[in-house]
Amino acid sequence: MCTEDKVEQLANLILKHKNSIVFTGAGISTESGIPDYRSPGSGAWEKYDSSIVSIPGFLKDPTQYYNYALEMYPIRANAKPNSAHLLLAKMEKAGLINGVITQNVDGLHLTAGNINVHELHGSIRQSSCLECGQVFPMDDIINRVDEGENPPICETIDGKPCNGLIKPTAVFFGEGLPTRPWTSSVDKCKEASLMIVIGSSLQVSPANSLPDVALKTGSDLAIIDLLDTPFDSRATIKIQDRAVHVSELLMGFLGL
Ligand SMILES: [Zn+2]
Repeated sequence: MCTEDKVEQLANLILKHKNSIVFTGAGISTESGIPDYRSPGSGAWEKYDSSIVSIPGFLKDPTQYYNYALEMYPIRANAKPNSAHLLLAKMEKAGLINGVITQNVDGLHLTAGNINVHELHGSIRQSSCLECGQVFPMDDIINRVDEGENPPICETIDGKPCNGLIKPTAVFFGEGLPTRPWTSSVDKCKEASLMIVIGSSLQVSPANSLPDVALKTGSDLAIIDLLDTPFDSRATIKIQDRAVHVSELLMGFLGL
């Protein structure tokens, strides 16, 4: 079956259920110019050692991470949502999906206009103090680093001195997932009667257990990814194609 026929089948499934949850990975953002940092040859780690985004590496020398962020953050912060992100925002507005669960830290689902977004791995657009938990927009923190405050330090909480180190809320290597987006994602997967996976090869633990949660409650599973995934044989539909290409076709079939 060609991609177009499969996408039409997916559109019919979406219209039938009207209760879908979407799960996205790096593949949805590559066409927004955001490299998949886990992919070999993506170039992200040729200049910097990846230990700077591990908790031990960050705590040992946060200035190295912020030097990297000074160079990389503007590229990521200026990335624009592509038609796959925009389709999901339209689908949520039209009541076709109940929200988006994402492994991505680029914040592009929120930029695109989705409201119910569960960022499993946090976001590069926000940071927080490791001592008091106070949240700061990453734009402001990067400006402070650019002005010479490296590493950036939380000055006060409720008028009292804090002096905690500020870290992006994006999950670093060696760090557990934040609890709230994870538990709400599990609930969303239990409630959904259709789970649509876009741009994730479902390899990374523990996010790769979410399709199991949906399947166990009798949900249909649709997967859009260029690669094979361990869930392909249990999927109602598998579309082996680019997220943007599929989304543009899907937009037509859904009349959005
Ligand atoms: Zn603080």
